Amino acid sequence: TEETLVLVKPDGVARGLTGAILARIEAKGYALVDIRLVEPDRETLERHYAEHEGKPFYEPLVEFMMSGPSVAIRLAGNRVIEGFRSLAGTTDPTTAAPGTIRGDFGRDWGLKVQQNLVHGSDSPESAARELDIWF
Ligand code: ATP
Repeated sequence: TEETLVLVKPDGVARGLTGAILARIEAKGYALVDIRLVEPDRETLERHYAEHEGKPFYEPLVEFMMSGPSVAIRLAGNRVIEGFRSLAGTTDPTTAAPGTIRGDFGRDWGLKVQQNLVHGSDSPESAARELDIWF
């Protein structure tokens, strides 16, 4: 069975949406293998977001991710990587489809970084790398 890293990002935790997000993940049928509240340091985030270094939103993204705790989840199930990304919706919460986590709970807050509530690994290679960083 496949595993993925899901993060409830600081906006999701601060807005009290962790339970609602976990409820959707559980209702979909995926298995929580491990879960922890994490306050990542800069080094952890630079590893996690290495592919975005140099982009205009990189520094705001790292700062945002250090603004409060995230909930890190090791999630398992057949095709869980694409399944969670489908539940999450597209990156921009303004246009993410209603019915998705980002589409139902997210919006544009006028900030330099999109606060879009969750992260999910995008491939088996990313999942292995990211799970190693957060767990
Ligand atoms: P997806 O892979 O579905 O696009 P993601 O979370 O993996 O979602 P990335 O492209 O890896 O998205 O970007 C990482 C994070 O950086 C996003 O979740 C978002 O918070 C922020 N971000 C991405 N693109 C932008 C952008 N153009 N402007 C502001 N913030 C952005």
